[in-house]
Amino acid sequence: MGLNDSSPGAMRNGRGLSDQWAESVVVRPRTTERHITVHKRLVLGFAASILTLIVVTAVAVALSVRYEECSGRDSEGLPAEPGSRGGTPRLNGSRADRTGEDEQPWKNSRLPGTLRPRHYDLRLNVCMDNFTFSGEVSIELECLNATRFIVLHADRLEVDRVSVTVEGGASGRQLSKPGGGVIRVHRHFAHAANQMYVLVLHRELKPLRLYRLNISYDAAIEDELLGFFRSSYTQNRERRYLAVTQFSPIHARKAFPCFDEPVYKATFSLGLRHDAQYASLSNMPVESSSLSDEDGWLTNMFARTPRMSTYYLAWAVCNFTFRETQTDGGVTIRLYARPDAISSGSGDYALHITERLLGFYQDFFKVQYSLPKLDLLAVPKHPYAAMENWGLSVFVEQKILLDADVSSSSYQMELTMVVVHEICHQWFGDLVTPMWWEDVWLKEGFAHFFEYVGTDFLFPKWNMEKQRFLTDVLHEVMLLDGLSSSHPISQEVEQATDIDRVFDWIAYKKGAALIRMLANVMGRTLFQKGLNDYLLSHMYSNAARDDLWNKLTQAMRSEGRDIDIGEMMDRWTLQMGYPVITISKNQSQQLPTHYIIVTQEHFLYGQEVKKNLSLQWQVPLTVALGNSSSVYSERLLWINNNTEIHRLGRMDDNSWLLGNINQTGYFRVNYDLQNWKLLIQQLHTRPQVISVGNRAGLIDDAFNLARAGYLPQGVPLQLIGYLPEETSFLPWHAASRALYQLDKLLDRTDEYRLFSDYVLKQVASRYHQLGWPTYGPGTEASVLQASYQTEELQRELIMLACSFGNKQCHRQAVAFISDWISSNKNRIPPNIRDVVYCTGVSLMDEDVWEFIWMKFHSTSVVSEKKILLEALTCSDNTFLLNRLLNLSLTSDLVPEQDVIDVIIHVGRNPQGRNLAWKYFREKWDVLNARYGEALFMNSKLISGVTEFLNTDTELDELKDFIQSSGVGAGPALPRALEIVEGNVRWHRLHRRQFYQWLRKPPSSSLG
Ligand SMILES: [Zn+2]
Repeated sequence: MGLNDSSPGAMRNGRGLSDQWAESVVVRPRTTERHITVHKRLVLGFAASILTLIVVTAVAVALSVRYEECSGRDSEGLPAEPGSRGGTPRLNGSRADRTGEDEQPWKNSRLPGTLRPRHYDLRLNVCMDNFTFSGEVSIELECLNATRFIVLHADRLEVDRVSVTVEGGASGRQLSKPGGGVIRVHRHFAHAANQMYVLVLHRELKPLRLYRLNISYDAAIEDELLGFFRSSYTQNRERRYLAVTQFSPIHARKAFPCFDEPVYKATFSLGLRHDAQYASLSNMPVESSSLSDEDGWLTNMFARTPRMSTYYLAWAVCNFTFRETQTDGGVTIRLYARPDAISSGSGDYALHITERLLGFYQDFFKVQYSLPKLDLLAVPKHPYAAMENWGLSVFVEQKILLDADVSSSSYQMELTMVVVHEICHQWFGDLVTPMWWEDVWLKEGFAHFFEYVGTDFLFPKWNMEKQRFLTDVLHEVMLLDGLSSSHPISQEVEQATDIDRVFDWIAYKKGAALIRMLANVMGRTLFQKGLNDYLLSHMYSNAARDDLWNKLTQAMRSEGRDIDIGEMMDRWTLQMGYPVITISKNQSQQLPTHYIIVTQEHFLYGQEVKKNLSLQWQVPLTVALGNSSSVYSERLLWINNNTEIHRLGRMDDNSWLLGNINQTGYFRVNYDLQNWKLLIQQLHTRPQVISVGNRAGLIDDAFNLARAGYLPQGVPLQLIGYLPEETSFLPWHAASRALYQLDKLLDRTDEYRLFSDYVLKQVASRYHQLGWPTYGPGTEASVLQASYQTEELQRELIMLACSFGNKQCHRQAVAFISDWISSNKNRIPPNIRDVVYCTGVSLMDEDVWEFIWMKFHSTSVVSEKKILLEALTCSDNTFLLNRLLNLSLTSDLVPEQDVIDVIIHVGRNPQGRNLAWKYFREKWDVLNARYGEALFMNSKLISGVTEFLNTDTELDELKDFIQSSGVGAGPALPRALEIVEGNVRWHRLHRRQFYQWLRKPPSSSLG
């Protein structure tokens, strides 16, 4: 699943880059031991249930058990054993007593595990006129443990009829009596608290038997983005409707009664009946189609799916058109979208890369794509960036439609990565599914990591995995994970309402960072071998993290490398946070100087916040030794203790140490001040001796170590003094991210000019050297081959120059806008349109705002619409900002899914901060009612309007707000509070030192 990220390189109201303290972080302290116990119990439970099955089979065969017959007699047999399948819950309290219903398994948040679905036959009548549907589901069930209850999930379904019949033995033997036995249903009811539906039977279902459960029901096609929902678009001035599903993580139950936990994989046969003016799609191709003579309705029967989890089932009813292509292996790929988008070719790019990506993943994983077709569906409204339903992946339009002429390369990059991510899920997710939501990172971390690997395959020059990964994933998530309100990447969840919360940046970005660290420790070949083995062993089934660790350990051992991956990775996945590794040259007289002392401690922004000194990691630390002309030694050291002494090569006073080579590890590195000085000298004289990745890493580490109080404030400032020598994009990008972070803290301080002048001084020469891009309509080919690095650097410099107040930059932006208005031709190069629009709106008068507002309404290009709307939030005029805020929430002039972005972007504008913060509090009830269920939107909003608060008064306002309204908002508010407390603390402890350094000539010493 792709979360809706803000674009990595997007202009943020003149200031700010992708610097969000992103998605939700649950505060749920938990000890490692307990977690491991729970996990082991799940695995053992699964094994035990298989054993039970074998034993029971043997007994059943031996005794030649008679088949069930229709009987009305209430079985007074023993109550069901507590479920013991993988991922099944413990029944609360005592063993159920003999009266049966006292047991009440529906009172547990998890399904009881007594039954397992094998196959679903699902028939739906979809009525697009009044947005309702009726369904009949027939589920073939296997009984694992005797029970009188059938408990499954259903939410908002109006159940009409239910029936249960005996099917036959699990061994496949058919019933001796045709028609089977009917099992009388004592009563059936919904248990809304757990979104469950319960059938109490007159007698017990017996282990190893198959049963059939039939349920017919009615439901609405909802006007919200969950379950089976509707949305609309206009075509030829006419409103058209479509209906599509979003089942992940727990919304399949809103569309049909089902065992809606990932471990209950089954096959599905779907039939959709609807007005023939619509087409319908599902995971599998249409097998047969028939038109009713009576009402002219169409029935599409889709081919049976492979075994899969309920949340990957999908269907859509729409009148989209498509373009298609075929892979060499015969897989048909289609891209479905609004007819005008298809005819203008906006879908061609995604279609083209999808075809290449299927080939790439098949080669990389050495496992074929499983289905005969793959449809990509571009919808106008969707709760996430995209959803990887098997064979029918759904994308919001902005993440899949591309108009090469007008889209910036950052838009293209973001879109590409979303596609790469979703296609990866066809293996990591659809084919092998995490056992339970606590390990959602097992699929999301992989898909996020492969965004970079797969994009490198498509565009090798972009160098994503070695470079962009660092700023956009590693640096980004270390901001979040350095908070004491962070949580371990594997997080225990039980309640349905908590499940949405596990889809956060910790799962995605930390997951990806840990996988990248592991891939580097193992080496590409062994890593690939391990993944291949993992996929083959668990295909069409589920897996837990230990399954992965075992396969990776085996791969290592096959090459004689004896590392217990599970033991190493448990430290990283079951503990929150990450370490800061401090490397210092030995100062003691006892040891020769070529020894180094390495320490590890839990990195936290608030150092005085309680430190969990017990946290320790197994750290694969790579260390390089260098001097002014070269790196002359590289070593891998495993750091397992708090303090260790290691011997390196020969060192003299001028050799510097550099840890975490190419930033492949998930940790920060600090040094003694003398070593920082040597590294900074090296950067000022010959930066190329240190790799691009490490130059970016040094910048990010230095700023964050200083922010958290581990380093004097002058160190990062002096370090970026080398930037005029920097010719690569990545270190500039790392620096600008760090500078925008600081900007938010400083832009309302009296001495702000000291800071902005210092930044402009670093930027000026490179900015003037690279200049501005020229406008020339691109073609798809030219976009693909664009010299990405240079263009991105140019863009970064323009963005820095314009947002920190370079006059020439302002004049150029204004000239572009004036030209557009007077000629009515937009000749602004696509790659910098967002910067120009925003700068223009902030500097020019109200007419420009009106002009952009008009263009926002008239354009149909999705990428353009997005940046035009963002530009409107850049105005200095609080009246206009207020008007925009009110229009977004109260009219349909701004699309519903963009409202949150409008508020956040107003908040990123220094002139709009108070306004957004005030507006957010005033409208909290409305916003919470509208977006509350989409937790990530809520949490994005909360961090967006609070992250810049940094005074005692604002901190009090936030505390008041949390106290009066913050109940139930999830982990976003406690996190916001910690961030704002950190901001206030920084001002108290470090601001003076920071400005003091800036007032002194930068050539002065460190600290
Ligand atoms: Zn995903």
